[in-house]
Amino acid sequence: MRDDNTKDFLGCEMILDKISDITRIVDPQSKRVSDHKNRDTVVLESEGHCFDFWGKGTTCKNCISMRAYNENRTFVKIETCLDRAYLITAIPCDVDDTRVVVEILKDVTASYWFDVGDGNNIDIGDFQMLIERLNEIAFIDSLTGVYNRRYIDEKLPVDLLNAALMSKEVSIIMVDIDYFKIVNDSYGHLAGDQALKKVAKTLSQCLRRDSDWVARYGGEEFLVCMPGAKLSTVIEMTEFMRESIERLAIEFEGKEFSVTGSFGIYNTKPSGRESVDDFIRIADEKLYLAKENGRNRVEY
Ligand code: GH3
Ligand code: MG
Ligand code: MG
Repeated sequence: MRDDNTKDFLGCEMILDKISDITRIVDPQSKRVSDHKNRDTVVLESEGHCFDFWGKGTTCKNCISMRAYNENRTFVKIETCLDRAYLITAIPCDVDDTRVVVEILKDVTASYWFDVGDGNNIDIGDFQMLIERLNEIAFIDSLTGVYNRRYIDEKLPVDLLNAALMSKEVSIIMVDIDYFKIVNDSYGHLAGDQALKKVAKTLSQCLRRDSDWVARYGGEEFLVCMPGAKLSTVIEMTEFMRESIERLAIEFEGKEFSVTGSFGIYNTKPSGRESVDDFIRIADEKLYLAKENGRNRVEY
């Protein structure tokens, strides 16, 4: 049983100050953030974004608030900003049917675990590289080097919402390698892996804008997202991807083979009310049309 003194101690402001240097409320989809200097406010600002704090000018790739929002669980990570290291805790909170995320940021630059034991601290630059590498592992597909399924789950809702807010088009392209089972059966799974790597690299190299991205959806399927491009441009670029894959010479243990891919494009101006699954389902339907109509083709 706690006595009254213990209760007072636990309720003390000082404890909160020690736990957190910054407490803020974010909407991970719109990236809007409450004024983090005022602990009482719950009003999300229309100006400014949660990622402004990190000074990188763009969304964080390993966004644990988005993960907390999607999975309704608390996540923790370390992020660096200039010469400081922060421990971040993202806690999902449902307020009046709206889910927001409370982010607790604690400056841990001088914490004991930076001390390697002989009185020397780990160099912040080395630590920054290590953290960037760890954050990268979280959203990169280890076989192909393109983004993974987790990145799709976290980035796609943001791109779709941004397109809706700016009344812009967005395109999702589902890509599936044709008759890939036969490739594995004929040349072996390692040769199949080599084909996956080369296809992923080719798709990435076909993209031109920083805002375009490609991720491995699963197995021999990839998802390409092109925010802001006109349908005619997207069709042209997708045709270029298709031809580039067709032309690829894949070598494995002295044997050379090639693969083809089928592409389903869904281009739309989102209203903001659709779910991510709706977009993926429609792009998938177009992909199946490409399969039905003979494979190695683009449908939209
Ligand atoms: P379709 O043209 O209809 O897409 O035919 P498909 O053979 O490509 O489709 P299917 O779904 O029958 O087979 C997909 C194959 O992809 C089966 C699976 O073993 C293979 N595959 C999935 N992931 C990997 C992987 O990481 N490495 C390798 N080598 N093969 C994989
Ligand atoms: Mg498939
Ligand atoms: Mg396939």
